Amino acid sequence: MEGPRIYSCSKCRSSIAFHDDIISKAFHGKKGRAYLFADVSGVDIGPKVDRPLLTGLHTVADIKCSNCHELLGWKYLKAYEVSQKYKEGKYILEKATIMKENW
Ligand SMILES: [Zn+2]
Repeated sequence: MEGPRIYSCSKCRSSIAFHDDIISKAFHGKKGRAYLFADVSGVDIGPKVDRPLLTGLHTVADIKCSNCHELLGWKYLKAYEVSQKYKEGKYILEKATIMKENW
């Protein structure tokens, strides 16, 4: 039997995101590789902050596991460069903080 392929919090194994919601794997987080997701669940979204990234200034909010409060990545709230607008409302999860479940 095959269920949906899920990524879970690597610390407490709460379900966080579906594999099918990955938009891109070509991102870099603070801890290395990171994935861009269209949607996540089971996270708490922190206060918004302006953060200069490699691709320009963005307004982002850190996202944490709502179960164990591990920092998982961030949400893009606003991108200032036109070419980066597609990231708005999307989520970055650091590869180091998530694990595959059901694969
Ligand atoms: Zn967790």
